[in-house]
Amino acid sequence: MTKTTELKSRLAEITDLHRAAGVLSWDHETYMPPGGLGTRAEQLSTLEKLAHELFTREEIGALIETATAECAPDSDDAVIVRLAKRDYDKARKLPTALVARLARETALAHDVWVQARRESNFAKFAPSLQTIVALTIEKADALGHNGCRYDALLDNYEQGMKTAAVRDIFTQLKAATVPLIQAISERLEAVDDSPLRRDYDEARQLALGESVARQFGFDFTRGRQDKSVHPFCAGFSPGDVRITTRVGRNELAMALMGTMHETGHALYEQGLPVEFDRTPLCNSTSLGVHESQSRMWENLVGRSRAFWRYFFPQLRAAFPETITDADSSETFYRAVNKVMPSLIRVEADELTYNFHILLRFELEDDLLEGRLAVADLPAAWNAKMQTYLGINPPTDALGVLQDIHWSGGSIGYFPTYTLGNLIGAQLAETILVALPDLDAQFERGEFGPLLDWLRTNIHRHGRRYEPAALVERVTGRPISAEAFVRYAKQKFGELYGLN
Ligand code: ZN
Repeated sequence: MTKTTELKSRLAEITDLHRAAGVLSWDHETYMPPGGLGTRAEQLSTLEKLAHELFTREEIGALIETATAECAPDSDDAVIVRLAKRDYDKARKLPTALVARLARETALAHDVWVQARRESNFAKFAPSLQTIVALTIEKADALGHNGCRYDALLDNYEQGMKTAAVRDIFTQLKAATVPLIQAISERLEAVDDSPLRRDYDEARQLALGESVARQFGFDFTRGRQDKSVHPFCAGFSPGDVRITTRVGRNELAMALMGTMHETGHALYEQGLPVEFDRTPLCNSTSLGVHESQSRMWENLVGRSRAFWRYFFPQLRAAFPETITDADSSETFYRAVNKVMPSLIRVEADELTYNFHILLRFELEDDLLEGRLAVADLPAAWNAKMQTYLGINPPTDALGVLQDIHWSGGSIGYFPTYTLGNLIGAQLAETILVALPDLDAQFERGEFGPLLDWLRTNIHRHGRRYEPAALVERVTGRPISAEAFVRYAKQKFGELYGLN
């Protein structure tokens, strides 16, 4: 056996441990009874500890070194070994005890967060969050940085991206979208989204969402959808990809658009290069690119006029008692595109969405650098909501407690959402050159050509290219806000009669 083969078989076992932990986390957020919490937290902690111990052994470092010399430089194995080395060097910086403690504390914090959010009681969640922030600071310092802890954390989700670059992108975005939102705010009544808040049977909403996922190309023999407090996608291999959703009787967009979003994530996971399964190559390249896929299907497809021309008859057939004769595809196309500063990030329109991210990014940076105490977080949150969106959350459940991320220790993660919006728009410009009749295809319900393009240009590469390199390779340009700004001005200018 070559050292490369030996290394790959070790990596496969370590991948199995991480994925087993993933299945347990998925179960925790979907079906586990509350009584399972204590032992589940220990199980997760044990698995992550074992995976970390196995991966950070000296012998893995020795195997990587020999395998590096052994592999042909242009081979797939060379890519796998290079990725393993990158992960290994990082993992070696983290003490096993810290990894185990983070896994345990975040599993416990999840249920505290669910409860605190239900009661809208931030004080209940604050001690858990305090622990997580302290452990995350420890983690950032262990990973190492040049005086900016955020850099160390961001790199875990968006390899190679720097905090300063994120700030620049937000500056560009603000300059372009603040005047646009301002102009729209004088004509808010031009778009009516009340059709989304009529009475829609929940079971039929879920069935319709699954049908849309299937039409987009989600393979239900290699995945499933369930309900959870916060929607997410978890891939355990290209052959087993789980998405979740939530549903509300008077909130048609929540389940429908949410399912389209998670389907976009799932299509990426189902399209990863299965021939490299259980190696570091069979992974998404970054969360920003992941989010570009979800936003592509949610916004560029699901919020397009062409899609609604195709889909409206299906909506009417699902809810014959709710859809009226006065409704048309245009009613719903406009409704799902209403711009309105709102409280909840995942339900925000495409324009105001990025301000939800900017706010979280700034707060996280302040927490990590010790400029903000956890206890002062709700007040800081509300002040920024006022500054950026002009609204004041009436409760913490609708404010600082709304997202699952901090309870899971995902700090440094939020900017990838905005990067995803920008990358999605940038990819769309390139796709339109390759598939100029995309709209006509959507109107006929043909989503295969778009999926094929994404499979060929994004999904099948897995982690072969760093995110910025992948985007530049595919679009010919570095990641920037330009394409998104062009898209937003054109679309919302037309909708609000500004052009
Ligand atoms: Zn997403």
